[in-house]
Amino acid sequence: MTQTISYLSHLTCPECGIHLNAGEIHGFCASCQSPLVARYSLDDLRLVLDPSQISCRPRGIWRWAELLPVIDPAFRFTLGEGDTPLLPANHLGKRYGIQNLLIKDESFNPTASFKARGLVMAVAKGCELGVKHFIIPTAGNAGSALAAYAARAGVQASVYMPKDAPRPNQAEVEIFGAGLVLVDGLISDAAKAANQARQGNAMFDVSTFKEPYRLEGKKTMGLELAEDFQWSLPDVIIYPTGGGTGLVGMWKAFEELEKLGWIGSQRPRMVSVQSTGCAPIVKAFHAGSQRAEFWENAHTIASGLRVPGAFADRLILQALHQSEGTAVAVTDEQILSAQKEMAEREGIFAAPEGAATLAALPILLDQQFIQPHDRVVLFNTGSGIKYL
Ligand SMILES: *Cc1c(COP(=O)(O)O)cnc(C)c1O
Ligand SMILES: [Zn+2]
Repeated sequence: MTQTISYLSHLTCPECGIHLNAGEIHGFCASCQSPLVARYSLDDLRLVLDPSQISCRPRGIWRWAELLPVIDPAFRFTLGEGDTPLLPANHLGKRYGIQNLLIKDESFNPTASFKARGLVMAVAKGCELGVKHFIIPTAGNAGSALAAYAARAGVQASVYMPKDAPRPNQAEVEIFGAGLVLVDGLISDAAKAANQARQGNAMFDVSTFKEPYRLEGKKTMGLELAEDFQWSLPDVIIYPTGGGTGLVGMWKAFEELEKLGWIGSQRPRMVSVQSTGCAPIVKAFHAGSQRAEFWENAHTIASGLRVPGAFADRLILQALHQSEGTAVAVTDEQILSAQKEMAEREGIFAAPEGAATLAALPILLDQQFIQPHDRVVLFNTGSGIKYL
């Protein structure tokens, strides 16, 4: 493989536009309470790189190194994340009358969920900047992924998880040798406990959107999708939304690819799926608000969707509006029957979050949001095995 270099330029706040040095550790913009995002020198990159070069490289997310924040190749840790299959779902397509239905199956990632993409990036960049100890509040899968990559990198991790988080997630954190703290309540309570533990300690907080690099890892889903569609994009992407990193990440990827001249201006309509037991984004979207209110008494079997207050609510809602997308809530019963249907008809045992995207499909067809000729991609974000 030829030596690839990152074109990372700086960090910026989408609210106030401040520029920050990407060679220093930053979390979020404290004055705006907004996530920070990484920017690249795309005008320079467009002169020297074309997509066929990327397609020839060995599989995995580091193929996209120019568009990722890690500068020193020694920190590009890997457990084989990324380049997950985009599988045609012909049986389900026939059943629902959609000619082109596809499932991007993220359960192939290390620790069996797409959280691997984000956490490998946060750990790699954190280590490059000198971090020795990472801390995270999590609904489950992000903690597993952090623990695995911290082990890989030889650094410490502390994971704060609701005590009713899936048992396999707890077991993974322990076997990878990370510190596991079980908390009464939801991910928001885990976040409070983690914050207290961090007081006065040199730990890097890799909570969703509280640092800029998990987003960069999740962005690779959008890059892969564009490549899979021969540098165009599907008509509709249906994505199970908790903290929104995947949705916002893909939206960012499309913008960067257009600036590179690799895709045109056509965009998929982005659909957020949540559970009726925790649907702050759905509610805000249909109310036409720019911000989502905290969802009280959140409950759903899809633990990754049990996020009552998303820190990046503005960015999620912007992506939905700009893409002319929508947001849909489905019940746990609908999730469970969709999970069975995807397993029986396609041989994919999806996580409840992934199954929620299939549960949303008949609703979107009813609303005529989806037409039979649309190319539709469902995201199965993890494996159902982890919820047993
Ligand atoms: C975390 C998680 C989600 C939600 O992901 P975001 O990108 O934070 O919205 C969906 N599915 C699974 C399996 C998850 O672990
Ligand atoms: Zn700001």
